[in-house]
Amino acid sequence: MTHQTKQATLALHAGQTIDPLTRSRAVPIFQTTSYLFKDTEHAASLFRLQGNGYLYSRNANPTNAVLEERLAALEGGTGAFAVSSGQAAILIAVLTLAKAGDEIVATNALYGGTHSLFSKTLQRFGITVRFVSGTDFEAVKQAITGRTKALFTETIGNPSLEIADIEVLSSIAHQNNIPLIVDNTFATPFLSKPIEHGADIVVHSVTKFIGGHGTSIGGIIIDSGKFQWSEEKFPDFTEPNELIGNRSFVEAAGENAFIAKARFELGHDLGTTLSPFNAWLFIQGLESLAVRIRQHVANAKEIADYLAGHDCIEWVNYPGLPGNRQKKLAEKYLPNGAGSIFSFGIKGGLEAAKRFINSVKLLSHVANVGDSKSLVIHPASTSHSRLTPDEQLKSGVTPEMIRLSIGLEDPTDIIADIEQALQKAVSVHASVKL
Ligand SMILES: *Cc1c(COP(=O)(O)O)cnc(C)c1O
Repeated sequence: MTHQTKQATLALHAGQTIDPLTRSRAVPIFQTTSYLFKDTEHAASLFRLQGNGYLYSRNANPTNAVLEERLAALEGGTGAFAVSSGQAAILIAVLTLAKAGDEIVATNALYGGTHSLFSKTLQRFGITVRFVSGTDFEAVKQAITGRTKALFTETIGNPSLEIADIEVLSSIAHQNNIPLIVDNTFATPFLSKPIEHGADIVVHSVTKFIGGHGTSIGGIIIDSGKFQWSEEKFPDFTEPNELIGNRSFVEAAGENAFIAKARFELGHDLGTTLSPFNAWLFIQGLESLAVRIRQHVANAKEIADYLAGHDCIEWVNYPGLPGNRQKKLAEKYLPNGAGSIFSFGIKGGLEAAKRFINSVKLLSHVANVGDSKSLVIHPASTSHSRLTPDEQLKSGVTPEMIRLSIGLEDPTDIIADIEQALQKAVSVHASVKL
């Protein structure tokens, strides 16, 4: 039996070939815009997407390539394209598939920035996104039309923590000859591998757990290499393209047709390039991701248990807690833990929620998740404030909801901070009652 290299090892080694000139053990930063062509023939072949070598760092860069190959290996994909942000990854993934007049179907419980991109900006460019409940499979089927080019979901929806039933969603997508795109940011490939469950394309904001230290913005698109691009639905993939020597992307790149199109068409034209320095920082993050995620999950579990037993708390929504309505889905799709981002409702509603956030000392009140430091935010007034009250409710955002992203501090210190802030928030609650 052949041995399959494990995730923790891939995170340290996949995608790197030792540089023959220097034999540098660490991945070098290739801080260069361009690469010397051997001769005119070599230059021409690179421009036609033939032959090996780098051309210009807007398209590809050797440091970025290590990050790309490493994340493709961790997700079980065949190729990847690293870009300047998670938002850029989602934009490029969608624009590689859809143009003006086309449609996308997306589940409701989405990151606020994705919701805004889908409901407003894409609309202005003629792409319609239809939002549906990710748990109402009939509604998902109904929303798909002849013009739909992809189904989009998040492994763990934000901030409602709705877990996508990826197997069901991918089979609905495939019955309609469209790919399923999954944003796997909240889970990371250490907690969930959507491609194993039928996802065709995986996107990440590597800004979050993968970077892990809150220092840089970046994103990545990973291709499973499995989707069959049909002539009828995706002629841009199958028809000859003069950009690449009058071949189609399928002919030129085979199973990597999607990534080739994303990189050489959209990435090239839109310029959503990831800096090699930031790629290098994300490689540093990946090296410790396995151990960090284990600790994030253990800390989150401990704090969720503490909150669940607290009398100042209305509810705790952590799929890892016993009795959570999504326990079954969590066991299937997140067997190693349900991540470290979760929400709770404080007694006393909106005012108590604000008072709680204004009282924390160790926890950082920021618009971010997946940092090594513990973070807190009130989604209704911040990350999801661009949504209408109705859209907020559909995304699972309620006024009393507080979202936590549990970091790597000693959990007893996190609990001590939450406790003192709850006491302050609740004393106001009590005085309101008087
Ligand atoms: C942060 C985030 C994004 C956007 O990523 P940026 O790197 O901030 O552009 C997209 N999806 C999810 C789930 C996120 O958490």
